[in-house]
Amino acid sequence: MEKLCLLEYTRDNLVELMAELGHKPFRAAQLQEWIWKHRATSFEQMSNLPPALRAALDERFCLRALTVVEVNQSTTGATRKFLSRMADGHLVESVIIPAAVGQGGAHSDRITLCVSSQVGCAFGCRFCASGLLGFTRNLTASEILGQIVAAEEISGNRVDNLVFMGMGEPLANIDNLLTALTLIMDPHALNIGARHITISTSGNVPGLRRLAEFGKPLRLAVSLHGASDEVRSRVMPVNRKWPLGQLLPALEEWARTSKHKMTLEYILIEDVNAMMPEAARLARVARRLNAKVNLIPYNTVEGLPWVRPSEAHCRAFCKALIAAGIPVTMRYEKGHDINAACGQLRLRRVKEAE
Ligand code: SAH
Ligand code: SF4
Repeated sequence: MEKLCLLEYTRDNLVELMAELGHKPFRAAQLQEWIWKHRATSFEQMSNLPPALRAALDERFCLRALTVVEVNQSTTGATRKFLSRMADGHLVESVIIPAAVGQGGAHSDRITLCVSSQVGCAFGCRFCASGLLGFTRNLTASEILGQIVAAEEISGNRVDNLVFMGMGEPLANIDNLLTALTLIMDPHALNIGARHITISTSGNVPGLRRLAEFGKPLRLAVSLHGASDEVRSRVMPVNRKWPLGQLLPALEEWARTSKHKMTLEYILIEDVNAMMPEAARLARVARRLNAKVNLIPYNTVEGLPWVRPSEAHCRAFCKALIAAGIPVTMRYEKGHDINAACGQLRLRRVKEAE
């Protein structure tokens, strides 16, 4: 039988587990300290737990849901991608981005981590390397949490900012996402504040509602990439399922209760969505949602036909939004953006040979 990973156990879950195993509730607090404060990798290390309890836990549970198999330094030197293997042999990729790159500041130890939420993605956006793979499976909450634990082990730093912009659509894996978020924010576990967490979505309307009900001041990034149904459906098949007529009201609802402005992600693709009239449409959507816009000049993906517009064109598009009074960011240099680093995870090996 495959062992369950304890990373995704909340304090309440651990208390229940202790009751089931015939131990007092205070053992749950001790166990949680071993898991999160000491980052124990084996039950043997848990010296203040009775040996019988350690043995019982060891029989049914594990403490890591993935094993890091490769760490790559990017050619620009700043970001580090790492690849982890899960119990069933599937691989998942995550990206460590130092704060100095992510936020343009001076040297610091702070890191942003870009995590994956699924193996592949069912949404099949036409410009996206992850979408090319098709969908394999959802990550468990422990596999999501495991990426953060691994990043902290690799970098020797705490993750200060977390972005769900790796492989997969996080809101299509909402149950496991919410469990993971509970532990990510728990002061007894990872203790990362909601305002340091960004969920990026291509617009899964039911998932968005569930996330709103979760009621935490998380940040939201929406992969818009088209400000009319015609343009958006051409690059994002998901727009046929939840067209702008459904998505925008759901986003308005989010904006009404959210503490932060949401970000509209907009990849600029020549002759697809980067024509100047589209800038005016995008400005109208951004104004309606009180959102900021992040323009991403398309990064070439092998095997896809799309073209990045010229730098002058991208700047003109950006200026049109600024002239319309919309807060906008665009980083032209390749590899220096969080999106460039983690928007296009595609595995050379989706599954390692067993
Ligand atoms: N599924 C979620 C999160 C993962 S994608 C979502 O779509 O939002 C993270 C970001 O990278 C998205 O904004 C996505 O549109 C962008 N991205 C994907 N392929 C890209 C490419 N070729 N060039 C630039 N950005 C890309
Ligand atoms: Fe999936 Fe996001 Fe890529 Fe679309 S952009 S295929 S939703 S990972």
